[in-house]
Amino acid sequence: MENRIIFLIDMQSFYANLEKLAHPLLTDKPVVVAGDPSIRSGVILAACPTAKSYGIQTAEPIWQAQNKCPHVHILKPHMQFYVNVSVTISSFLEQYSAAVEPYSIDEVFLELPAMEQGKAEQLAQHIKQRLLREIGVQARIGIGTTKVYAKMACDHFAKESRTGTAVLNDANAAELLWPLPIGRLFSVGNRMETHLLNMGIRTIGQLARHPLYDLKKRWGINGELLWQTARGYDTSPVSPSTHQKRKSIGHHMTLPRDYYHWSEIKVVLRELSEEVSRRSRQHTSLGQVVSIGAVGQEYGFKRSFHRQQRLFEPTNSGRVIFETASALFKEYWDGTPIRSLGISLSSLQPAHYKQLSLFDTDEDLDSLYHTIDQLKDKYGMDAVLHASSLSPAGQAMIRAKKIGGHYK
Ligand SMILES: [Mg+2]
Repeated sequence: MENRIIFLIDMQSFYANLEKLAHPLLTDKPVVVAGDPSIRSGVILAACPTAKSYGIQTAEPIWQAQNKCPHVHILKPHMQFYVNVSVTISSFLEQYSAAVEPYSIDEVFLELPAMEQGKAEQLAQHIKQRLLREIGVQARIGIGTTKVYAKMACDHFAKESRTGTAVLNDANAAELLWPLPIGRLFSVGNRMETHLLNMGIRTIGQLARHPLYDLKKRWGINGELLWQTARGYDTSPVSPSTHQKRKSIGHHMTLPRDYYHWSEIKVVLRELSEEVSRRSRQHTSLGQVVSIGAVGQEYGFKRSFHRQQRLFEPTNSGRVIFETASALFKEYWDGTPIRSLGISLSSLQPAHYKQLSLFDTDEDLDSLYHTIDQLKDKYGMDAVLHASSLSPAGQAMIRAKKIGGHYK
C-alpha cells in the first residue's frame, strides 16, 4: 500500500500569540491569557514564549506567574476571536487537500496525496511559513504515515527540532519513539500508566513488543487499541466529519503586495464573496453568519482583526455576503495596509430548508448564479468575472490559473 502522508499542525501558544496580533504593542512583552485576570487565583490558560522564558506555565495560578515575572501582561480570553482564526486556518488548509480535520481549537489534521518524505518535509515548511506570514500564527508540524504517528511526531519531536517539524513512521519509530517512557504514548493517562508500570512495561517499545493476546485478555478491544497505538497502527481517515460537521465555508487570499485603498480592497472582498457563494451553492448550503478576517502590517508589527455578523436570514448570495463583509471591514479597518483577507460563511444549513421571505427577490438571482457556476465549471474560473476584477487589484484572473497558490 502506498504510504499515507498526514500532518498534525499545532499552533504554538495559540491564545497568547493571537492576543499579541490584536495588541501589537505587546509583541515583545511577556503575555498570558487567564480565565479571570481580576482574581489572583485565576488560572493561566496560555502563555506566550516570552512569558514561558520566565518559567511561567499554563494551568498555574496568576499569583504564581506574577512571582516569576512581576511585569507580565495578563489578558482575558476572547474565545470567539480564537474560534474565528481557527476556522480561517482550516479553510486556508483546504487549499492543499479536502481532508482537513480540526482536532482541537489549535490543532488540525491534514491528509495529503502520497509523496516522498523529502517533498512532505518541504511542503510542511512551506505551510508553516505561509501560516506565519498570512495569518500570523506560529505552527509546529508532525508528519506521519498515520494520525497517531503525526500526533506523536508533533508532541514529542517537532518541539525540539530546529525546523519545527518532525517525521515519524515505521522506519524510524523503533529508534525514536520506542525508547520513550510509556506515559508519553498517545492516549495513555495516569491510571493506565500505573497499570502498565505494574506489569513491568516502562517504555513504548516494551508495549509494542508485548504479546497482543495478553493485552486483549486484560482490556479487550482497548488493550488491542493500546498495542496498535504503540506500533503506530491507525487506519482512521482524516475527515472533516470525524469530530464535527463542516461548520463553515471560507475563502482566504494573500495579496501580491500591501493594499492601502478601499477601492482595491473592495475588489478582493467581492471576489472572495463570490467564491464563498459559489462553494456554498456547490454544497447546497446556506449560512447565517458572515465573518471577515484581515491581516495587515505596519512598522513591522502584524495587525489583524476578525469580526462577524449574524444575518436576519440565511443566504448564499454573493451580493449579500459582499455587502455584509464590506460593512464589517469598513467598520473595523483602521487604515493599516492590508496583506491578506478572508471571508467565511458559518451557521450553515441545507439550502432546501430556506424559508421564503415576503421580501425575497433572490429567485432570479439564484438561477443566474447557477448559470454562472456552470460557465465557470465548463470554461474555467475566469470565464465570468465581475468587471472590477479586470482592474489591477483583481486577483481572480491570476487565481484561476493557480492551484494551492502555484501556477497550474
Ligand atoms: Mg498548541
